[in-house]
Amino acid sequence: MNDILPAETPYWQQVEDAVREVVQAYGYEELRLPLLEKTELFKRTIGEVTDIVEKEMYTFDDRNGDSLTLRPEGTAGCVRAGIEHGLLYNQVQRFWYGGPMFRHERPQQGRYRQFHQIGVEAFGMAGPGIDVEHLLMTARIWRRLGLDGLSLQINSLGSTTARRAHRERLVNYLRGRSDELDDDSRRRLETNPLRILDSKNPAMRALIDGAPLFSEYLEEQSLNDFAAIKSALTDAGVAYSENPRLVRGLDYYNETVYEWVTDQLGAQGTVCAGGRYDGLVEQLGGKPTPGAGFALGLDRIVTLLQQAGDSLLLRGPRAYLALVGLQAEQYSLLFAERLRNRLPGLRLTVNCGGGSIKSQMKRADKSGADIALVLGDEEMQNKQIGVKFLRLDRQQERVDQDEIDRYLKQELTF
Ligand code: ATP
Ligand code: MG
Repeated sequence: MNDILPAETPYWQQVEDAVREVVQAYGYEELRLPLLEKTELFKRTIGEVTDIVEKEMYTFDDRNGDSLTLRPEGTAGCVRAGIEHGLLYNQVQRFWYGGPMFRHERPQQGRYRQFHQIGVEAFGMAGPGIDVEHLLMTARIWRRLGLDGLSLQINSLGSTTARRAHRERLVNYLRGRSDELDDDSRRRLETNPLRILDSKNPAMRALIDGAPLFSEYLEEQSLNDFAAIKSALTDAGVAYSENPRLVRGLDYYNETVYEWVTDQLGAQGTVCAGGRYDGLVEQLGGKPTPGAGFALGLDRIVTLLQQAGDSLLLRGPRAYLALVGLQAEQYSLLFAERLRNRLPGLRLTVNCGGGSIKSQMKRADKSGADIALVLGDEEMQNKQIGVKFLRLDRQQERVDQDEIDRYLKQELTF
């Protein structure tokens, strides 16, 4: 579980701002959901025989003896809330939410025990249109952040009936090669064979590569929907590749599934994953309601942005106001307030607690300021202000106080 420190928060803010802007531009509305849910909720939705439920959940009994779990993902809680508040029945909804998720995984680069997602969920819309909307939204988020080098993989798992037929052949195939199965997979063969296809064990690669494909079982409707999604992506100029072996780590998905992946993050290359879950609302006691959504893995997206360096970071300019003498100190707060009024976007730190001009300049430098503004006795007398560029080889200047906002607007990039 990471502390996120000031050197990193600008990247987080930029990612969160970009996502919020894009999802709101598509008419999605925010939900704020609890971090804790009844353990039962996750067992029923994610699936008893999944990595998450079997070994990754933070579960405890509260003082009443109820079993609660720190949410490992957001979809289950979102559907639970939607049913509980009557938001799903006979309605069309577009929701988003964000925040920390908790999984007791083996910590490594890109895999943490508290990580952060923004999730998008849509309800009440059958047909492939909503999947396309989600894929276009995600593509827009990458453009908005200036991230290239992400690629989209898509697959169709087919309907529940098709999945059942596929499952039967899959089990036969795996039984025939059971000596190649690892312990987890041997156990899952009877309970949840699909999970075997999502194994992260490299020793299982060859076995998985030879497994029967979903595509051989797709019914006409699924094939048509999948074709419609692919042609809409092509029309919109969003490149994709079909990955016939793509499955998701959670049980509730059907039909379309997808992942956005990068090769710039080592083994943990998936930054966004989603698809349809048409049976989930009913499974949780609601009326049958189509559903589709995706989750963005913010930690990994932030790392991508950081790897691109400062160049993608949009930040307002930063100034530090240094003060020499009592008169300047008294005047400074008023002066700073006026400057902030006139220059929205400027991040202005006022020196507090005195200090020599030399030590104030050190603080200015450490604050990351682009320029230091200096108010001393002489400046007070002449109604001027000193301007020192901290990152450029430029002469110190004096500017009339009345002119300073115009001057800064011209000299700094906002
Ligand atoms: P993976 O295959 O990487 O384990 P998953 O299938 O468990 O991912 P989802 O539950 O679909 O992932 O979560 C969606 C996204 O959330 C992932 O693509 C990833 O970007 C991010 N994510 C999932 N688990 C973690 C984690 N432990 N640490 C950081 N990010 C994570
Ligand atoms: Mg996982």
